[in-house]
Amino acid sequence: MKALTEQNRFKTISAPVLLVFLLFFHCTGSPQPSEEFKKQREQMVKWQIEARGVTDKRVLDAMRKVERHLFVPSELAAYAYADQPLPVGYNQTISQPYIVAFMTEALKLSPTSKVLEIGTGSGYQAAILAEICDSVFSVEIVNELGTKAKALLKSLNYNNVFIRIGDGYQGWPEYAPFDAIIVTCAPTHVPEPLKEQLVEGGKMIIPVGETNYQELILLVKKKGRLIQQSVLPVRFVPMVDQNKRKY
Ligand code: SAH
Repeated sequence: MKALTEQNRFKTISAPVLLVFLLFFHCTGSPQPSEEFKKQREQMVKWQIEARGVTDKRVLDAMRKVERHLFVPSELAAYAYADQPLPVGYNQTISQPYIVAFMTEALKLSPTSKVLEIGTGSGYQAAILAEICDSVFSVEIVNELGTKAKALLKSLNYNNVFIRIGDGYQGWPEYAPFDAIIVTCAPTHVPEPLKEQLVEGGKMIIPVGETNYQELILLVKKKGRLIQQSVLPVRFVPMVDQNKRKY
């Protein structure tokens, strides 16, 4: 009986004490996870992206703003700002931050650009594009990934991203032509439908090659012809067709 009374008194004292304690640590204790991630994003932009020569302010601002840790599986959030691609399930990956920034800058986008992305994956690249251009049309072949990315982007209020589940080799003819096309999976050749869906003067960036080695190619449409230049050796997941063969 005595013990019980003691315990009750402890309870009544401990509640306010605990509250003060919690408030104290909330204000002065270790930083909140989102602040910590923000710092990591700053570091990522400084050391992985600016240090390698990306200068487009709008691209850098978007990379600083978009919370990459929301686009990776929660158990990998601690690595979200590391200098590497990460698995996102279904044997697919979210690209290395530098590659996302490099490809975005190469397209020289404006606030009025309408962009086609092939390979939605996590939706991260689409979010970066959505920050700096008018609208993003993104095609993903893996239903689960496309559906998940769609829900995530909606929850983050990206109302200018449109996702379709299907084979990106065919592009998205209903919304063509596009001012820019970004392909984030690798075919063995530039798909003919994508060439057709690029506006005159538009740019396309695409990794082309074999499974373990590709060249990132930048194409510009001039007088109906595509002028291409090889810009960087890269390694992307292959572009596949519906029957899981690669293109
Ligand atoms: N841009 C993504 C990373 C893409 S990984 C991001 O920011 O996270 C490459 C993606 O291309 C994978 O999700 C893969 O499923 C998809 N893919 C492969 N072949 C495709 C095809 N033919 N059409 C559309 N998407 C394809």
